[in-house]
Amino acid sequence: MPTYNAPVEDMMFLFDKLRNNKKYNEIEKYKEVNSELVKDILDEAAKITQNLILPLAKSGDETPAVLENGVVRTPPGYKEAYQKFIEDGWISLSCDPKYGGQGMPKTVSTFFDEMLSSASLSFKLYSELTIGAYNCLLRHADEEIKNTYLPKMVEGKWSGTMCLTEPVCGTDLGLLKTKAVDQKDGTYKISGQKIFITSGDQDLTENIIHLVLARSTDSPAGTKGISLFLVPKFVLNKDGTVGPRNGVSTGSIENKMGIKGSATCVLNFDDAVGYMIGPKNKGLNSMFTMMNLERIIVGIQGLGISEIAYQNSLTYAKERKQGKAFNSKSNNGADFIIDHVDIRRSLLSMKSMIEGQRALSFWLSQQIEVSLNHSDEKIKQEASDLVSLMTPVVKSLFTDNAMEITSEAMQIHGGYGFTKDQGIEQFYRDNRITPIYEGTNSVQAADLVFRKLINKNGDVIENYLKLVKDEINITDKKAEPFIKQLNYHLDILSKFTDWMKEKIKNSPEDASGACNDYLKVLGLVATGHAWLKVLEVSFKEYDSNKGFYEDKIQTANFFFNRVLPRIESSYITATTGSNYIMNYKFN
Ligand SMILES: Cc1cc2nc3c(=O)[nH]c(=O)nc-3n(C[C@H](O)[C@H](O)[C@H](O)COP(=O)(O)OP(=O)(O)OC[C@H]3O[C@@H](n4cnc5c(N)ncnc54)[C@H](O)[C@@H]3O)c2cc1C
Repeated sequence: MPTYNAPVEDMMFLFDKLRNNKKYNEIEKYKEVNSELVKDILDEAAKITQNLILPLAKSGDETPAVLENGVVRTPPGYKEAYQKFIEDGWISLSCDPKYGGQGMPKTVSTFFDEMLSSASLSFKLYSELTIGAYNCLLRHADEEIKNTYLPKMVEGKWSGTMCLTEPVCGTDLGLLKTKAVDQKDGTYKISGQKIFITSGDQDLTENIIHLVLARSTDSPAGTKGISLFLVPKFVLNKDGTVGPRNGVSTGSIENKMGIKGSATCVLNFDDAVGYMIGPKNKGLNSMFTMMNLERIIVGIQGLGISEIAYQNSLTYAKERKQGKAFNSKSNNGADFIIDHVDIRRSLLSMKSMIEGQRALSFWLSQQIEVSLNHSDEKIKQEASDLVSLMTPVVKSLFTDNAMEITSEAMQIHGGYGFTKDQGIEQFYRDNRITPIYEGTNSVQAADLVFRKLINKNGDVIENYLKLVKDEINITDKKAEPFIKQLNYHLDILSKFTDWMKEKIKNSPEDASGACNDYLKVLGLVATGHAWLKVLEVSFKEYDSNKGFYEDKIQTANFFFNRVLPRIESSYITATTGSNYIMNYKFN
């Protein structure tokens, strides 16, 4: 079975040394979230993820969730672990104390999201959508709904889901058919079928709060006629306790390639009682609160799976002996595979992406908190623009890289990676959903290019490019080779951005054909920017912790020499246009 050691040292390094966003540090309510508190939280988080949740990865894979007599049964051990998980308050880490939460910022809860994803993504998913639904209700529901539902969700006694997808309506939500019929008492009757619903049913909580997109009978077709409804599995009694069963039933559970412990359900709504959340026909806007935060968390899922895949590859490479290394010190017999150049390249590639991405996500977490909680509206808006720009980037880059990393992990394990014994192939299978759900990565790339890039006349991307340019100016001489590399690739990103903007206007097919590459280029520059912040501290504080900082500098060295330069080939190939793609006739 794979092992896992939560990277608390790296997380604390980020929290202590890179929490340098002035605007983030101005947020009053987080002033008391100090290093000691966060270290205590992360140490406890490490214990629960390593000891309680990690073993659930295997049990969930071997004994998936099942549907028995209309009821979903989660895999062995999930119920007990979930009880402990909510008793210890882990679900409420980032929730508002007003509803029973612990009020931790994203800069802390994101670390926990990563640890959970490393330990067992399937188990994580049973609480992840609860927090997503909580955030959506917090922002868009009225006080009565919030007071009725949020405390129970924060406690983990009730869970949440996100019900968008239907058999003929995936990416294109405008095709949605689920119907909402207005009732005299202000409620709605919801009917239709939703598919692929994560944690659509389970045996862990007393109630399930479905957030459902549906169309009122008098609403227009397309995305402009969609409203958001809260549909509980059990309707509540007047006193707020769980009452009779609502008209929601589970049709089946999907049989999947990975995350088998997570129940992905077909849900049938038959005149189910629903309550409209937010304004009529604006349901998609409200749902985007949930989807945008979820997209970033899906990126973190990829990061978490990458970390555990890397850790186990490193251990294996130190234990497995095969062949003679070029620098072999043994007279006879084979060397450990970690002495082979190619294995070292592979491990460094993983490590340099993971640590750069963790630093990038920490930067983004600070921006998210500024966008939600700063007292100055203008500052909030600027941060919100950056978050919006980076959301598709983090979702796609981290999950695509996780595919590369989990594949490399299998490769390092050789045949033992492909067979089930070591549990390595499960990382690959479990991660494979992350580039697909919450909007496929191609759809993220299109969102980045056709929405985010032209947002505010293209100012948001220009502001971001300027921000990176300004922050590159580190005075330390040792940083010069890294700065030179980043500047070179930042120039390519600038040229690529100009090319994109022109094509969006004059030749959208060319822009479309280049979307994925553009996202990759922006993502790599953003990771390089995050790495440079890490390097700045590493050079400045080198003597205080030589081992740690030397490791950072060498890992960054690999990233800047072997990963960042992927930018150039993406740019060159993407800007060849789309004629030869569109003119080809498929038979
Ligand atoms: C395990 C699992 C869990 C899930 N959980 C949930 C959940 O909790 N709630 C929920 O509502 N849904 C959920 N989903 C659904 C998931 O979000 C969708 O599968 C995903 O958004 C893609 O939709 P689709 O499968 O219909 O693919 P399609 O939309 O049919 O897309 C097929 C392909 O076409 C591409 N494509 C589509 N439109 C365009 C376009 N305009 N331009 C270019 N390319 C395009 C896509 O990138 C993709 O490659 C889940 C799915 C799975 C498998």
